[in-house]
Amino acid sequence: MRVCVLGAGIVGASIAYELAGRDVEVVLVDGTSPGSGATAVSFAWVNANAKLPREYFDLNVAGMREYARLADELPHRAWLHRGGRLATVERVPDLDAHVRRLVSWGYAAEILDARTVAEEVAPAARLGDPDTPVGWFSEEFCVDAVPLTRLLVAESAARGVVGHFGAVVDAVTREGGSFAVHLADGTSLVADAVVNATGAAASGVGGMVASPVPLASTWGMTVLVHAPDRSLRQVVHTADVELRPEGLDRVRLHDTTLDDLLPHADRDELASTMLGRATRVMPALASARMVSTHVGLRPIPADGVSSVGAVPSVPGHYEAVTHSGVTLGPLLGRLLATEIVDGAVDPLLRPFRPDRFTGR
Ligand SMILES: Cc1cc2nc3c(=O)[nH]c(=O)nc-3n(C[C@H](O)[C@H](O)[C@H](O)COP(=O)(O)OP(=O)(O)OC[C@H]3O[C@@H](n4cnc5c(N)ncnc54)[C@H](O)[C@@H]3O)c2cc1C
Repeated sequence: MRVCVLGAGIVGASIAYELAGRDVEVVLVDGTSPGSGATAVSFAWVNANAKLPREYFDLNVAGMREYARLADELPHRAWLHRGGRLATVERVPDLDAHVRRLVSWGYAAEILDARTVAEEVAPAARLGDPDTPVGWFSEEFCVDAVPLTRLLVAESAARGVVGHFGAVVDAVTREGGSFAVHLADGTSLVADAVVNATGAAASGVGGMVASPVPLASTWGMTVLVHAPDRSLRQVVHTADVELRPEGLDRVRLHDTTLDDLLPHADRDELASTMLGRATRVMPALASARMVSTHVGLRPIPADGVSSVGAVPSVPGHYEAVTHSGVTLGPLLGRLLATEIVDGAVDPLLRPFRPDRFTGR
């Protein structure tokens, strides 16, 4: 069986990695380089915290657990930051009820006060007066999504996956029972199955083959700053900024309220605002140097959850399009690889099938 995976973000790279070694010939295609789409912009916090409905929460919990397997399999774990997550009460207004619900669903969640946080959990962060309640979610974590994606691509290549990067897919045609994938550099690839993992471009690429997945993608921006004191280990969410460790000596910043001003706002101005807000939470950032800003579209199917699996109107055509793709990528990669090779649809995926959108 020949499978062509279109898109080498964290989702496509995970699918190729899982297909490799299953007696399948795999070509992984990307118009640019692996990990340069939404994956490069992502805040990359791995969680199920506010994911609803329940089936989507369960999918994300399984996504979190999948990382334990992946971390055991891959040759190093430098991309993994297992530090937990803190959220101030402004960020989660009904913190008591939220934590109660999560605990009743078997999720690690509790409320600490800011004094305990400062003394025992995150000395680098200032989260308010000593008695202020703070949500603590000890099993959440974050990953360095680009190095992880590139590692998955490298491991896939070591298992025989052929990478074809730097030429976009222009057209996909059907010839008999197979597909021909036409690239802008003149290459045509023949495959028995095609997987659309092109993120926010999935509607256009999917439309080359079948009725496209409807998307409601939104703009987002993160900022990477150099923070050599290495003191932040957790993901931190306050009312107006989010921080997380990245690599050995960086902190990634995000702020959903500033995302709302994109794509037209001045990015340097937004980045400075973000850093100012982050410095109030983490004073060590006062002298931090800005490294880079990252702006892009979150791929989000129109109903806000994932669209994963066979598109039934065109046999051999599969898609994996999702928000929370960093949380879900490794899990979706394994489940979709199983579906492609064995035809078995995991029960976790049943609520998220492509055919729930009409015409597919
Ligand atoms: C600001 C922001 C914050 C986020 N925070 C989180 C978070 O905290 N936790 C979380 O789990 N998720 C988060 N996400 C979402 C997550 O980043 C995405 O769901 C995930 O990166 C999607 O991965 P992907 O592989 O599907 O898409 P992408 O990474 O976009 O990859 C798609 C690839 O397809 C390629 N491509 C597109 N068109 C073509 C074509 N015609 N031919 C060939 N190749 C093509 C692109 O070059 C790209 O490399 C965030 C996203 C943003 C933008």
